[in-house]
Amino acid sequence: STTLLGENYEDDDLVNSDEVMKKPCPVQIVLAHEDDHNFELDEEALEQILLQEHIRDLNIVVVSVAGAFRKGKSFLLDFMLRYMYNKDSQSWIGGNNEPLTGFTWRGGCERETTGIQVWNEVFVIERPNGTKVAVLLMDTQGAFDSQSTIKDCATVFALSTMTSSVQLFTEYGRLAMEEIYQKPFQTLMFLIRDWSYPYEHSYGLEGGKQFLEKRLQVKQNQHEELQNVRKHIHNCFSNLGCFLLPHPGLKVATNPSFDGRLKDIDEEFKRELRNLVPLLLAPENLVEKEISGSKVTCRDLVEYFKAYIKIYQG
Ligand code: GDP
Ligand code: MG
Repeated sequence: STTLLGENYEDDDLVNSDEVMKKPCPVQIVLAHEDDHNFELDEEALEQILLQEHIRDLNIVVVSVAGAFRKGKSFLLDFMLRYMYNKDSQSWIGGNNEPLTGFTWRGGCERETTGIQVWNEVFVIERPNGTKVAVLLMDTQGAFDSQSTIKDCATVFALSTMTSSVQLFTEYGRLAMEEIYQKPFQTLMFLIRDWSYPYEHSYGLEGGKQFLEKRLQVKQNQHEELQNVRKHIHNCFSNLGCFLLPHPGLKVATNPSFDGRLKDIDEEFKRELRNLVPLLLAPENLVEKEISGSKVTCRDLVEYFKAYIKIYQG
């Protein structure tokens, strides 16, 4: 698939893994400039991460969490990180008094940068069949506010859809199909936070499935545009899912000094989180990124990113 893009790397272009990695942290790779509605790819940052010798030729699994500002994306990603670092432990979810770290960035309700961030440590996981894959975690933030247009937001999400194998889309307590415009790709999982009707649809994957089916129904009396979004979503993703998460508790939602420690999080939420994260990241559940039916390596993904960003740079 690299040939498709007409470019191959010479060995001396490749970054030596020894000199690369600073401490593990999120790195901004796509930056959305709101003033001129333009997008910028930090090629050097992306290459430093994906062209490390020990991973560049492995097939990649890209798990992206997308959504608007303050929808709990970083919070969730931090738990994904805990799982990735402690996969083999029953208590991967952490200790009661351990603050959450990782993607979390505590700055009140000041807006963060719109665009795409990735965790600079790519995890090498051996799957049950013995093959190794590289797992990249991605945080994708669009903005649904007056400062950015619908198009910018759609572009950021399209970019992350095109480059990820599993995309989670976070929403609070509802699912507004109108806001979602996507390109055809692999797995799309809606993650509904603060679900408060467990007696109608139970928490988790099964309740989510029923809820999603209902929300995706095309009805005669719906506006044509809404009908089309629903049909489109069905046609576009080979795997559609939905997971209903309970409210994490008032400390999480409202206490400014909450630092992510488990003792401040509702039991029910933690129980569902223990189900959700391995569902996405357990070695047997990892979905390798494919483009046009072919698996994509870390090295390929760099080229795809470069090609895709060009599409959106007016
Ligand atoms: P991001 O901007 O999407 O990355 O959001 P953050 O992860 O920074 O979370 C924003 C705020 O929402 C923080 O104060 C979190 O404690 C809180 N939060 C995280 N998850 C949830 C959730 O499921 N429900 C509610 N109500 N709040 C949450
Ligand atoms: Mg965040």
